[in-house]
Amino acid sequence: MYPRAILKDTLYKKSQQKRRTSPCNYKERIFVLNTQDLTYFENRPGKKPTQKGCIELSHIKCVEIVRSDVPIPCNYKYPFQVAHDSYYLYVFAPNNDCRLKWVRALKEATQCNTLFMKYHPDFWGEGKWRCCHQTDKLATGCSEYYPNGAKPLPPTPDPKHRYIDSEERIVVALRNFNPEEDSDLPLHKDEEYVVVDSSEPNWWTVRDKNGNVGPVPCIYIAEKMSNNIDKFEWYNKDMTRTEAEELLMRENKDGGFMVRDSRHAGVYTVSIFTRASGSDGEKYPLVKHYQIKETEGENVKYYLAEKYVFSSIPELIRYHQHNSAGLITRLRHCVSRNIQYSSRINELSSEKWEIYSEELILSEELGSGQFGLVWKGCWHEKQVAVKTVREGFMSEEEFKEEAHIMMKLSHTKLVQLYGVVTQRSPMYLVFEFMEYGCLTDFLRAKKGCLSQEVLLAMCLDVSEGMAYLESSNFIHRDLAARNCLVSKDHVVKISDFGMTRFVLDDQYTSSFGTKFPVRWSSPEVIRFGKYSSKSDVWSFGVLIWEVYSEGRMPYDNRSNSEVVETLSAGLRLLRPRLCPQSVYELMQWSWKEKPDDRPSFALLLHELACLDQDP
Ligand code: ADP
Repeated sequence: MYPRAILKDTLYKKSQQKRRTSPCNYKERIFVLNTQDLTYFENRPGKKPTQKGCIELSHIKCVEIVRSDVPIPCNYKYPFQVAHDSYYLYVFAPNNDCRLKWVRALKEATQCNTLFMKYHPDFWGEGKWRCCHQTDKLATGCSEYYPNGAKPLPPTPDPKHRYIDSEERIVVALRNFNPEEDSDLPLHKDEEYVVVDSSEPNWWTVRDKNGNVGPVPCIYIAEKMSNNIDKFEWYNKDMTRTEAEELLMRENKDGGFMVRDSRHAGVYTVSIFTRASGSDGEKYPLVKHYQIKETEGENVKYYLAEKYVFSSIPELIRYHQHNSAGLITRLRHCVSRNIQYSSRINELSSEKWEIYSEELILSEELGSGQFGLVWKGCWHEKQVAVKTVREGFMSEEEFKEEAHIMMKLSHTKLVQLYGVVTQRSPMYLVFEFMEYGCLTDFLRAKKGCLSQEVLLAMCLDVSEGMAYLESSNFIHRDLAARNCLVSKDHVVKISDFGMTRFVLDDQYTSSFGTKFPVRWSSPEVIRFGKYSSKSDVWSFGVLIWEVYSEGRMPYDNRSNSEVVETLSAGLRLLRPRLCPQSVYELMQWSWKEKPDDRPSFALLLHELACLDQDP
C-alpha cells in the first residue's frame, strides 16, 4: 500500500547539479509529498508519469523560502529550498500562497528530524552563494535557522543579577508555557504567579502557587493589578464627603476626581467635579459621588456602572479615565490633598514641552488633516512637521494637560511629539518629520510594487508601536493606515495616538457622526463607546487589511450604516488577494466579537515576528 499523499502540485525544479558537470536547467515536475518522502515525476501526456527523483523525509535538514532578488528564469517565480543529505533542491511555486503551503507542510512532515542550525537564504550560482559569497557549495550556512518558525526566546538572565521586587505583584499566565530549560518555570493558562524579579525586559522571575521559582517569558504573562490603592495619587484616605467637595470645587476643573473612603467601612467612593448646564443655559459647578460596588460571589469584581466590571479598583479607575460610560463625565484630572495638581502641571508644562515660535521656521505645506494644516518646518536644525489646530476644533486646555504624558511616550515606531507652541492661538503641535507622509497615500502610490516582505514588515512596525502603547496602558482610539506615517527609511510609525479625546466636534466623536471612523471601530466602540487596547486590536486588524489591499478603503462598496449591519450579521472583511492565509488568520482573530477573545498586541507582535522569520 502507498503512504497517504499530503500534497500534490505541479511545480518547477532547478537541477540539483550534484556533479560539477551537470547542467543547470528548470523543469516542470509533479511533486507529491507523503508521510515518508517527497517524490517528483515527469508528466507525459497520455502516459503514466515517470518518477524522476525521491527524497526520504528523514534526510531533509531544512525547508525555507529562498530570499533572492535574482530574476528567475522559469515560469514559476516563488522559490523555496529543500536541503537534504549534501544537496540543495530548489523548487518554484506559481504564487506565494502555494509556496507557503508547501513550506509549511514540509516543515510539519520533517519536524522530528535533527536539523542543522544554519542555512543559506539565497541561491547557489556561478560558483558561489549569493548570500554570503562563500565559494564552497557545502559551506555552513550564513543565517540562523529555526525549523518551526519560532525565534528562540532570549537567553535566560543570569541569576546573579536578579533582584527581588519589594512590592508583591501578581501576573496571570495568558498561555501554557512548556520550558525547554529545566531552570525555567512552566506556566499554566489562567493561573496566577507572584513576581519575584522584573528587572529583565523579556524574562521575569515568578513564583507559582507551590513555591517553585523560575524565569518565564514576559509575552506569556500579563500583570494583574493588585487592589491595594494606597499608592495611587487619586486615593485620599480618610477624606470626608465635605472635604472632598471643597477640594474639588477649589481645583475647579471639569472632570476633577478622587477616590475616598465612604462612610461605610471597607467601601470606596469616587467623587467627580463637573459643570452642568442649568435651565438658563449657564454652567453650574457640581460634585457627584459614586460608590464603588462589588459583585457577589467568590471572584469579586468592581464597578461603578453595571455594564463595566473590573477585577480591581485601579483597573476600574483606569478605564473610566478614558470612558465616561455611565458617569457624568470621564475622570479627567486626579485631585489629591497631597499634591496641588494644577501647579504641578504648570511646573511640568512650561519648561518641558513649550516650544517658542521664534525657534521654529515653517517652510512648505505638507497637507491638511482634520485638525488643520500641516507644515514642514525646522526646529533646532531638525526637520519637523508642525500641525496647526483649527480654531475651536479641539480642547486645548485638556490637550495641554495631557501633552506631557504623550511626550513621555517614546518609541521608534511612534511619531514623536516634540512639543507644543502655546503662546499663539490656535496652538501648534510639533512632531517628528516623516518623509513619505501618510501610509494610505504611500500604499496607493506604490501599488503593485511592494513585496510580501515589505507588507509584512509594515504590519510588524505598527504592531511593535502598539505593543508599546498597550504596555504603557495607552489607548490609541483611532488606529488606521491614515494615522500612520512612513519615514525616509520606510519605517512605518504610529501617529495621532489618543488625540481624538480632545476633539470637540461631535461629527468625529459620536458613533452616529458622519466623520466617526466606523470602518475601523469594534462593535463595543460603535455600540457603547467602550474603548480599550482590545478595541485598538480590532482597528489593527483593519489596518493589516488596508496594507495588504494596498491602501483600499475598507468595505468600499458599503455605507457606514451598511458596515454596522454587516458586522452585526457576523460578516467580516474578505482576505485581500495579496494576503497569505496565515496573516488573514491574525486579522480574523483581531475581529472576534468579544474583546477578551482577541489577542493582545504583545501576542500579535510575537505571531507576526514568527511569520517574518518563517512566512
Ligand atoms: P490630522 O491628524 O489633522 O488629520 P494628518 O495627520 O492626517 O492630520 O496630516 C495630514 C497630512 O499631513 C498627512 O497626510 C501627511 O501627508 C502630512 N503629515 C502629517 N504629519 C506628518 C509628519 N509628522 N511628517 C510628515 N508629514 C506629515
